Amino acid sequence: MINIPKGTKDVLPSDSYKWHYVENTAREVANLFGIKEIRTPTFEHTELFLRGVGDTTDIVNKEMYTFNDKGNRSITLKPEGTAGVARAFIENGLFSGAMPLKMYYITPVFRYERPQAGRLREHHQFGIEFYGGNGADLDAEVILTAYTLLTKLGLSVELNINSMGCKTCRQAYNNALKEYLKSSLDKMCPTCQSRYEKNPLRILDCKEEGCKQLTKDAPKITDYLCDDCSEHFSKLQNYLTLSGLKFKVNPYIVRGLDYYTKTVFEFVTTALGSQGTVCGGGRYDGLIEQIGGNSVPGVGFGMGLERILMLMEATGVEIPKEKGIKVFIASAGDKANEKAFELCYKLRLNGVVAETDHMQRSFKSQFKYADKIGAEYVIAIGDNELTENKVNVKKMADGTTVEISLDEIVNYNF
Ligand code: ATP
Ligand code: MG
Repeated sequence: MINIPKGTKDVLPSDSYKWHYVENTAREVANLFGIKEIRTPTFEHTELFLRGVGDTTDIVNKEMYTFNDKGNRSITLKPEGTAGVARAFIENGLFSGAMPLKMYYITPVFRYERPQAGRLREHHQFGIEFYGGNGADLDAEVILTAYTLLTKLGLSVELNINSMGCKTCRQAYNNALKEYLKSSLDKMCPTCQSRYEKNPLRILDCKEEGCKQLTKDAPKITDYLCDDCSEHFSKLQNYLTLSGLKFKVNPYIVRGLDYYTKTVFEFVTTALGSQGTVCGGGRYDGLIEQIGGNSVPGVGFGMGLERILMLMEATGVEIPKEKGIKVFIASAGDKANEKAFELCYKLRLNGVVAETDHMQRSFKSQFKYADKIGAEYVIAIGDNELTENKVNVKKMADGTTVEISLDEIVNYNF
């Protein structure tokens, strides 16, 4: 017996309706906000993520599925959705079209992490990417897209926002943070010790309890923002307030990726233990340039669909079942079986969800089966029905029957 790889999951036929519901709602919300789907490959040249995600991030340092293909190219399975979209944006010359360009994706994401509840090695994200606009109104719209989707899904989660500043003000903040942490360097986890020189901001994102303690009173980046970043941040808050969104300024959220500038945000819940971030995003004005394009500002988010589904389950959100079988045609006897087979196919061609028996069951068990699969109507065909060219259409909900001619079935208005 070969088992499923660690950190991956099957979605079984009995559960796939939940995924359809979440994905369809995401597409609906994207449509409302004028966002079009983009699909990019599941794997890219490793170099794209080294440059686009950044070589001081956990993703690049520890979590990537990287291998050499048979042509000896270094290939990496998508560890996030943004870099591929940015590559496609440049490669397809999308920058010469009308701006802003609003795109969304639904994609598998691969990260070599320690599997636990809400943390998988293959998970799925719904994400959006807006290119071209540099105003806080666009940041607010990105946040509103996530908020609208979460609300439509019946979820209430807390919105945390922060600004990571730009190259200029982040440098001043990095210095202040390093100064503050200098004396505790030896108490930090080894990863944070190496972050200290390379990317001190990342220490704020550490999940080790010891490091969390060391940073809990650290200087706040919001106290170091330059005028431009500071104005951008207050405009964002104004747009969110205008839209009636509640939010918390959390000066310690820095997000795990290197490309963020100015706005960063997270939607978090306490209902999922330590895997409480269901959506994270922000602005990345330097990304397109970093992977070889012209300077084009961008803003977006990634939302973890497994965590969304877990949260829906944990908070008792009822997910509507998809439409089931309309008509089940039960039959007994060779001729009747043939008729049932033929009618079932013809009904389907007419757009009616029909089913018939494929297990040589008795009439009684066919009725039981029809009930189990939730058929709305059942028609039984035996020798009598064939001779008289008449059948009873039974409505399962109330047991009422209507007699129609066999020839009418295909065009009957069920
Ligand atoms: P975390 O801090 O939980 O590791 P992250 O900052 O690495 O999250 P992002 O890269 O922003 O996460 O990914 C966007 C969203 O994808 C997260 O908010 C989360 O909902 C989901 N996500 C990230 N990693 C995983 C994973 N290994 N398994 C399941 N969902 C994940
Ligand atoms: Mg992570």
